[in-house]
Amino acid sequence: KRFEDLNLREDILTGVYEMKYSAPSKIQERALPLLLEDPPRNMIGQSQSGTGKTAAFVLTILQRVDPSLPVTQAICLAPTRELARQIIDVVGTMSKFTSITSTCVIKNFDFKEKISSHVVVGTPGSILYAIRSRHLDTRNIKVFVLDEADNMLEQNGLGDQSLRIKRAIVKNPQIILFSATYATRVEKFASQFAPDAVKLTL
Ligand code: AMP
Repeated sequence: KRFEDLNLREDILTGVYEMKYSAPSKIQERALPLLLEDPPRNMIGQSQSGTGKTAAFVLTILQRVDPSLPVTQAICLAPTRELARQIIDVVGTMSKFTSITSTCVIKNFDFKEKISSHVVVGTPGSILYAIRSRHLDTRNIKVFVLDEADNMLEQNGLGDQSLRIKRAIVKNPQIILFSATYATRVEKFASQFAPDAVKLTL
């Protein structure tokens, strides 16, 4: 399998080359054809970090964003600021040759005006604040990602905040959830968060 076989937009594919990956990783090879299907399907993926799951959901987000509409179309939640920053870096590199814009919304984010970036990555507390204070409009969200669900549930309140954010997104987005472990608690949360999802284990 090659990245060229995934029907990615040309400007996104050029961004993939920027990452210097020679071929899709196993998770990318298995997840991307499913994630890019139309109509979109929810996915619950169990995979460790280091397997390339970030690129899998970032490419799905980029492929689904319509750059001609100046509205937020994807939200990605991460349990820590550090992870949110790593994800936004991948978004930035892979979207380098597109007109897709992205913003990282974490603690100390300077809320002055409405966020109009196509892609927003952040921690649940800050994203929820952005929505409630009307800095972030959820009406056009097409893809909603929750990364490291197991870590999210280990931190007080983050699972709850994530569910609140999900409820604020009224139009049914494509929901993608990743977790490294899949204990009963995570499983329950995941099936509530991403109903009718395709399940992938790596
Ligand atoms: P993850 O935390 O699962 O997203 O894994 C990310 C790590 O795997 C990073 O160091 C990436 O640069 C690397 N990576 C992701 N996809 C590929 C790929 N297709 N080929 C080589 N390395 C990759």
